[in-house]
Amino acid sequence: MKIVLIGAGPRNLVLVERLIAYAKATAGLHDITIADAYPIGGAVWNPDQNPRFMANTISQQLTLFTDDSVKKQVSGLTGPNFYEWAHTDASDYLTTHHFKNEQAFRAEIAILNPNHFASRALFGLYANYYFETLQKHLPDNTQLQFKQQYVTHVHPQADETFSITFADGSTQTADVVVYTPGYTNVDPTDEEKQFKQHAKTHQLVYLPPMHPSDAPLAEIKGNQNVIIRGLGLSFFDYLAELTIGRGGQFVRSADDTLTYQPSGQEPHLIAGSRSGTLPRSKAYNQKAQAESYQALFFTPEKIQARMIDGHISYDDFYDLFQKEMTYKYYFNLMSDTAITWPFDRADFLTSLQNSQDLNATARAFGIPEEQIINWDAILNPVAGEHPDYQKFITDMLQVDITDARKGNDLAPFAGAFELLKDLRGRLREYLNQDYLTPDEYEKFLKQFNPINRLLNIGPPVLRIEQLQALIKAGIVTIAAPGIKVQTTTEGFVATDSQKHRFESRQLVDARLPAITVAHTADSVMHDLKDNGLLTDVQLNKADGTTFTIDAAYNDRKTLQAIDANGQLVKNLFIHGTPTENWNWFTSFAPRPNVNDKNLRDAEIMAQQIFN
Ligand SMILES: Cc1cc2nc3c(=O)[nH]c(=O)nc-3n(C[C@H](O)[C@H](O)[C@H](O)COP(=O)(O)OP(=O)(O)OC[C@H]3O[C@@H](n4cnc5c(N)ncnc54)[C@H](O)[C@@H]3O)c2cc1C
Repeated sequence: MKIVLIGAGPRNLVLVERLIAYAKATAGLHDITIADAYPIGGAVWNPDQNPRFMANTISQQLTLFTDDSVKKQVSGLTGPNFYEWAHTDASDYLTTHHFKNEQAFRAEIAILNPNHFASRALFGLYANYYFETLQKHLPDNTQLQFKQQYVTHVHPQADETFSITFADGSTQTADVVVYTPGYTNVDPTDEEKQFKQHAKTHQLVYLPPMHPSDAPLAEIKGNQNVIIRGLGLSFFDYLAELTIGRGGQFVRSADDTLTYQPSGQEPHLIAGSRSGTLPRSKAYNQKAQAESYQALFFTPEKIQARMIDGHISYDDFYDLFQKEMTYKYYFNLMSDTAITWPFDRADFLTSLQNSQDLNATARAFGIPEEQIINWDAILNPVAGEHPDYQKFITDMLQVDITDARKGNDLAPFAGAFELLKDLRGRLREYLNQDYLTPDEYEKFLKQFNPINRLLNIGPPVLRIEQLQALIKAGIVTIAAPGIKVQTTTEGFVATDSQKHRFESRQLVDARLPAITVAHTADSVMHDLKDNGLLTDVQLNKADGTTFTIDAAYNDRKTLQAIDANGQLVKNLFIHGTPTENWNWFTSFAPRPNVNDKNLRDAEIMAQQIFN
């Protein structure tokens, strides 16, 4: 069997091991090709990328080997997780292999801690070790090759095979294709086209949405304004590169505050977004590797109790989730034994467990008003007028930093928000079982995704501290919500809802390309679309209208592509990022010992390919 995997990111890499294990158990001959324009590790985890770009997952929670927490029909090769490897064998691996970032890797490995956020490049190094290990343990009936080429075309053939064309013009036939491309190129919006043209005409700099590792940040001139649209994870990558990368230094003083010493080569960053919110930071990890939270509210029983005709409303769904986070907040508040409360803590917690309004119960027990959790303020942190906006932001960041330093289990807020991660698998299961109708799922995506982004997908707390230090040093200015950028004869001008006005000759859209089937600029996606093998997701709403999710349609259980006629496509799998929002929250790398979804998915695909 000839299998072609498009993309050499974590998902397909994990799949390679499963395919080899299954191939070994058969009598036939098998040929596996994995293709990517980037080295093994792919665009996100490219070992050659800027080592200043940090992962936002701690090192002990990353792996590529399928461990025993995943139920497998055929066992295969196991190995160390990322931290274990980095701590033991990485140094020898660097001695026998040549990597451009060797010096940076050695410096990192020397101080790497299991709870430390490593560079994304270092995980790419691990990916190379992993792939080489697979190659060394191939059974006689299986060939494995990495082709460092972009796949430009995939065409279905009459005999149900696929013809694959690579960027160098070579072709190959595949019996099975697994398309796992991560973020792909999309058509620029009218505004992006206009900014690009404007920049060209007036010798300005404009960087459109792209992978941070591809961004030509050297083009950004120092000692000038640069407007940055986007306050998410790409922004934090750019922030590091435009400050530390320009020779600036952060210094931690005896009282533990961080200050920034500029090099004089930095631009002045003016950063904002439509919502104007900054994501909450990732707190210090306090959890054992496979530990997960036991829910009290967001349980199958409580969800079932609110179901009517097999469905629950989004409001009820979220209500239970918010109650869970609220309970965890108060639980953590009670865990601080330095505080004496005028009531029995156990009684309070029992009352909360039986409460329909946890804040009312907390007030009834005498929790002071400033310690009552205020969800409106948490979810709308930048609402209102703030005359000294930078002071307002640095104070807000300080609250986040102080809390996050208490750890992801014990911190009242960060510990509560961590449930978005701990209960993610359970949440996804409910979604995949269609507990929400299409109408309610639409509401879920609209309302829950921003909450998840704000509270659960932030950078390590160190990056938030760095941002705070940079604002204080005058290197960064955060715009109020509603940033709008327009062109002027001089360059670009940004305005926000509090009437701040910033001029600049440099503009950066610090975000990844959108996930879209409708506006894809990717030739493979176009091929699959044109041949009717790939389509978006159309769900029927109660009023007869259609809710379209602009993502690739697949069978959520088997990951097989579903074509424009709603039929499963034989031997074509579409996996990961392009299916986001249909498969909810797919953007994470495999985690060891928790029956990880990526690892499970690989097992499911391998089973189908070989059965
Ligand atoms: C900037 C960034 C930082 C992230 N940081 C983290 C993090 O710290 N922790 C975490 O858990 N998750 C992180 N993620 C989420 C990330 O999506 C997953 O961790 C993981 O990389 C997904 O794996 P994947 O294999 O599906 O896709 P990817 O890792 O994106 O790999 C897909 C690969 O397919 C290749 N490709 C696309 N089209 C073609 C083609 N036609 N031919 C050949 N190759 C092709 C791409 O070049 C790419 O290398 C991050 C994502 C981004 C974009």
